[in-house]
Formats: sequence, structure tokens, C-alpha cells
Amino acid sequence: MSTSVAGPEIERLVQLLARLPGLGPRSARRVALHLIRKRETLLAPLAEALRVAQERILTCSVCGNVDTRDPCTICSDERRDSTTLVVVESVGDLWALERAGATRARYHVLGGALSALDGVGPSDLNLSGLVARVANGGVSEMILAVNATVEGQTTAHYIIDLLTDYPVKVTRLAHGVLIDRRSARRSFALAPVGRPHGSLSVGRKRLSKGERDAACNRSL
Ligand code: ZN
Repeated sequence: MSTSVAGPEIERLVQLLARLPGLGPRSARRVALHLIRKRETLLAPLAEALRVAQERILTCSVCGNVDTRDPCTICSDERRDSTTLVVVESVGDLWALERAGATRARYHVLGGALSALDGVGPSDLNLSGLVARVANGGVSEMILAVNATVEGQTTAHYIIDLLTDYPVKVTRLAHGVLIDRRSARRSFALAPVGRPHGSLSVGRKRLSKGERDAACNRSL
């Protein structure tokens, strides 16, 4: 039987930290101890930042991103290309692409991917919002930057079918298409999927390093 070395408040802090991705119980205890040691310079500002974030974070009603304003900073940025939408599964994917500076287009966050196994159907994703944005006009190109999983690809096919009747060019962000043997690094490519009724294009555009890194970091 383990004995507690701290009061319930600190144990609670450790338990909550242990729920964070990448932190197990041992590392959570180490983080808690670090925060306690840096009580004034780290713990207090962190607590304040968490409180403010909890109070002010909103989901963008246009794209599904999270921000403290609605529409979000990206949707409100007039300098961005509003004719192209990059469709991603999660806000984490959007942030990874933004960190890499991969695109100046706007985004649409689906909130997941279709999965019969996990019981995720079309109504669980932000698909009606996507179709509405296309139907409203002004969107001429869509880049499907979904994950290279069965679920991601199923979702991509579903979206292509969904947009059959709209005059929008659909391009897919492909993963792991080419292997550079010298560096053994995965390469990524933008693979046009063509019009829903049309034939596949053989043209491919290699991504920059930043764009590849974005794709590598998409699980963050
Ligand atoms: Zn937005």
C-alpha cells in the first residue's frame, strides 16, 4: 500500500497533471514539484493563464478553430486567401500547419474522422458547416489535409462525394508517398484528386520542408 507524501491539494495537482498527454504519474509528480519550487515565477502565472483561457476560449463558428474571438483570428484575417480551404481533422492539425507556415489559406476543422469502429458518423463531424461554406460561394479550392489513416481517407472520400455538385477543385494532402533513400526521410506531396467525377491528375507538387514538418507534427 502506497503512502501519500503530500496533502490532498498537491495530490490532486499531480493527478490532474498526470492526465496530460505525455505525462505519466512519475513525470506528473516531477512537474508538480517543479511548479511548487517556482511558485511565484511559474505556478502563479500558469494558474492565471489557465483561468483566463478557461473563461475566454471560444470555438470559431466559421471554421471550428479555438480562439478567444469568434470568428477566430485566422477567419478574420483579410490578408488570407479566402478562396482556398484547408480541411483538417483537429485544431492540433491546424496549429501544426500554421507553425510551419505551410499555407496562407483558411481552414475548416472537422472535429475528427469518420470511424465505424468508434461510432463516429457524418453527423458527428462539422461537415454541414463545410458544405455551407462552399455553397455560400467564394471557395474555389479545397485541400483535404486529413490523416493518412483508414479513417482519414474514408473521410476524404466522403467529402469528395459530398461536394460532387459544387464547382470546387479538391486536392488531397498525401503522406508517405515517396521515400528519400539517402536521408530515409518521408516525403509528402500534394496530390490532386481531381473533380469528383473527373479523372485523377498525375501532377504532384513536392512540399517544402516546413510543410513536411507540419505533416509530421500533425498528431500534436
Ligand atoms: Zn475560424
